[in-house]
Amino acid sequence: MSKKLKIRCLISAGPTREWIDPVRFISNPSSGKMGYALAEAAKNLDMEVSLISGPVNLRCPQGVQLVRIETALEMQEVMNAHFEKADLIIMCAAVSDHRPSKIYERKLRKNEFPDKIILKRNPDILKILGGRKKNQVLVGFAAETNEIMISAKRKLKEKNLDWIVANDVSKSDIGFSSDKNEVTLISADGFLKQIPSTNKSKIAKEILDVIYPSCLKKVR
Ligand code: C5P
Repeated sequence: MSKKLKIRCLISAGPTREWIDPVRFISNPSSGKMGYALAEAAKNLDMEVSLISGPVNLRCPQGVQLVRIETALEMQEVMNAHFEKADLIIMCAAVSDHRPSKIYERKLRKNEFPDKIILKRNPDILKILGGRKKNQVLVGFAAETNEIMISAKRKLKEKNLDWIVANDVSKSDIGFSSDKNEVTLISADGFLKQIPSTNKSKIAKEILDVIYPSCLKKVR
């Protein structure tokens, strides 16, 4: 009897923390809710799910393998290690684009704190995965405040994605730390689906329902 193949799904969620000294960091207000909702929805579709998460205040959905990270470099390392074995990768994390070029080993006193902090660019994890992509379905998120569609389509192409989920983070009632979201799902071959404002669990389920058939086609 043939064993049913499970889709192996890798999801990143939450913010990253880029440390300045042991008590200070650069980060963003991502709550991780969208990524965790996606992990739950993927599990409900009987996928084997790994969730790579920055620091958030959420419970990991049952049956999902959780790997906690803090910095963008740690996230890159774990995503890289899991990438090859995954069939579907959803990069939902709000990765800090920059990190301090120097991390102080001990807490800086007020009078020692520098006026300027030199920043270094973090790697674009998703773009690097896009460059390595073979048979996987690769999904990115584009949180935008203006020219949402133009910018999302550019990222879809530049990062060699199969799908991008675009959302308007300038609206305070949706996105980032809100329970709700409103997104447009765009595929590399031009398919477009708008998902009107609703809670993140429903958004996650709708996103996965649309993407699922393209994963089934690719699963080995
Ligand atoms: O270019 P931008 O940061 O807007 O792209 C957003 C997408 O890229 C998200 O899917 C995010 O998780 C991913 N990203 C990344 N590494 C970064 C910045 C963003 O993987 N350093």
